Amino acid sequence: MPLVSMRQLLDEAAKGGYGVGAFNVNNMEQIQAIMMAAKETKSPVIVQASRGARKFAEDLYLFKLIQAAAELNPEIPIAMHQDHGNSFETCESAIALGYTSVMMDGSLKADGKTPATFEENVAITKQVVDYAHERGVTVEGEIGVLGGVEDGHGAGGSGLDHITDPDQAVEFAERTGVDALAIAIGTSHGAYKFTSKPDGSVLKMDVLIKIHKYLPNTHLVMHGSSSVPKELQDIINQYGGKLNPTWGVPVEEIQLGIKNGVRKINVDTDNRLAITVFVETPEKFDPRDYMKPAREAMAKVVAQRMTQFGQASHAGDYKPVSIEEIAKGYKNGSLVTKPLVSK
Ligand SMILES: [Zn+2]
Repeated sequence: MPLVSMRQLLDEAAKGGYGVGAFNVNNMEQIQAIMMAAKETKSPVIVQASRGARKFAEDLYLFKLIQAAAELNPEIPIAMHQDHGNSFETCESAIALGYTSVMMDGSLKADGKTPATFEENVAITKQVVDYAHERGVTVEGEIGVLGGVEDGHGAGGSGLDHITDPDQAVEFAERTGVDALAIAIGTSHGAYKFTSKPDGSVLKMDVLIKIHKYLPNTHLVMHGSSSVPKELQDIINQYGGKLNPTWGVPVEEIQLGIKNGVRKINVDTDNRLAITVFVETPEKFDPRDYMKPAREAMAKVVAQRMTQFGQASHAGDYKPVSIEEIAKGYKNGSLVTKPLVSK
């Protein structure tokens, strides 16, 4: 199956009332782990690469690996997504490679650190939407600023510093025409999200519910949504790792989000923890000896998330629409998101 439009994948998720995990990749083993899990659970899936990943793996290596994944798994709809694009050029180069979706994170300036103004965010995001939609490519925007830093990208601070304003979210969606919108409701990037066990109300659900009510057709995205399971932290520390105790977003909170319009859930840290390599047999030095169990450990975590988010068993629900057809849909208005219901 060729790579599919993320818009189609998320529209289907909205119809089915489930969420889709978006998993970050940097190398072959991570891609294989995700595909092992998608195959086992029969899940449509979003694979995403940050700017750092594209630099680390080199664009062509990474993209050819994704194409291989699509060819080897014709029964699985896969969308390939640029995570946290910082500029028009980053998004343009991803589209040129064949990515079917891009995130233009205009909440920050091009340095990926300084918060941008609302008007700057609207302008750059709209520019990317116009360019991408003409080519059938999906666009995710961001309004509000997420906490933490990942891959050198992020404003830092706590997830509660810049919570999304629902009225601004509406204006942003109307003026840019984004397909998906990342909102800040208290999550943050990286492994250190909360310093004590969250009490079950860590996310600003009231904000999420309001935004979904105003923007029923814009797919909401949760970033920084790893759960950072204690078992994985313990295993890493058992083998000489030095992780300080930390807590992630409880899966039940994410599931509550999914009930209220969240369709894309970004997970990176959990998979990083799972694929961390342990030297159990120091006398061995073949990469296969340690990459195989690491890959299996990651596949297990991904499969678990796929089941928890509800995407499992939905891979065969629909036929992929070609990117050319999607482009026509944007042009003739059938795919244009009509954001506003009465406020
Ligand atoms: Zn993110």
